[in-house]
Amino acid sequence: MSQSIGFIGGGNIAEAMISGLKKANSALEIRVTNHSNRGRLQGLVDRYNVIATSLTELVEDSKVLIIAVKPKDVQGVLKDLAGFSLQNKLVISVAAGVPLKVFYKYLPGVAVVRAMPNTSTAVLHSMTGLVRGDNVNDEQASVGEKIFSATGKIMWVPEKNINALTAISGSGPAYFYLFAESLIKAGVELGLSEAEAEVLVLETLIGSGKMIAESDKSPGKLREEVTSPNGTTYAALNVFMEEKLAQTVQNAAWACARRAEDLE
Ligand code: NAD
Repeated sequence: MSQSIGFIGGGNIAEAMISGLKKANSALEIRVTNHSNRGRLQGLVDRYNVIATSLTELVEDSKVLIIAVKPKDVQGVLKDLAGFSLQNKLVISVAAGVPLKVFYKYLPGVAVVRAMPNTSTAVLHSMTGLVRGDNVNDEQASVGEKIFSATGKIMWVPEKNINALTAISGSGPAYFYLFAESLIKAGVELGLSEAEAEVLVLETLIGSGKMIAESDKSPGKLREEVTSPNGTTYAALNVFMEEKLAQTVQNAAWACARRAEDLE
């Protein structure tokens, strides 16, 4: 990827993306501007060899501008960007719940892609949802695709589906972390050491993910195959059924999607 990339906001998601992009291509030129917290910005310079710069220089020197600030700070960034010519620039926003119409309000005619990556970007295994704005040409769409394909898989979705995608893959890593955390605790309660429980949970999670990815069977079919009637797995799954785990997972995903809508 030869495009120079500028990050406006150098927090958690920017760091996950920068780390993944640099792993994929260490020569890639990345600029970062961060409002406050100079220590954070210096940390990115030291760890990933990015160029710390002002907003003005970043806009001048980057073909792609990635807005990676909290949703409440996006409008401030757009007001600042309104003072620049963004012709031939691609703006990518990773802010949850900020719709395209907000970008058009401050930056009429701007080419903008909304992106919802997740933090597995840092290990090159993100699942990123992309929404293509009206003014994005094919070349720019392909640039957006390349940036996020460097750090995992991508899926284009219409804007009406981005909150649903956020509820599944955007916030999804935290759901699996919670499950892993709970299973480690259960292992310790059952008498394993924490270190043992951690290895067992980690390997089981990775193995299950690989089975879902590499076998041609659905998760439901795989579950049935490892559950013999009245066996040990059956006993455990019965508790999940009685406690309505499936319903709880659905409620959680709905709560996430609604929260993303509230941010709009
Ligand atoms: P963060 O608070 O860690 O980082 C945001 C950074 O932006 C801060 O360092 C802040 O100082 C800086 N900033 C604020 N206003 C600025 C401005 N005007 N100019 C330059 N810098 C400015 O937040 P985060 O967790 O990285 O999240 C950033 C965005 O990414 C959010 O909108 C969030 O919805 C989205 N997102 C996060 C995740 C995730 O897993 N963390 C996943 C997908 C999307």
